[in-house]
Amino acid sequence: MEVREDVLKSLETARQEKFIGAPLEARVNLSANGGLYPLLEQYAQELPALFIVSQVRLNNHGEGLSVAIERADGVKCQRCWKYTTDVGSNPDFPTICARCAAAVTEAPNG
Ligand SMILES: [Zn+2]
Repeated sequence: MEVREDVLKSLETARQEKFIGAPLEARVNLSANGGLYPLLEQYAQELPALFIVSQVRLNNHGEGLSVAIERADGVKCQRCWKYTTDVGSNPDFPTICARCAAAVTEAPNG
């Protein structure tokens, strides 16, 4: 996927400029026009894993593709190291995100 290279390049630049320390501290803001947007939207759930970032935001406007790197929302989960806004949503696990809390709770023998 061509988009991936653009994003990884932008992430590398952001890191060199010390805007972010690690890719997981970033949110990728992708703006795409009519041709590309539906494709990106189709893969929206997989994009954060593809780019190895915490969050990806898609915007349906602009010319071609433009990539902006922002700082991720929320706080770092101590288990998966992703930045999420739902860390501590399970009061039993105040330092990890909701998804990790669910995984920990479901795992046999904790
Ligand atoms: Zn987590």
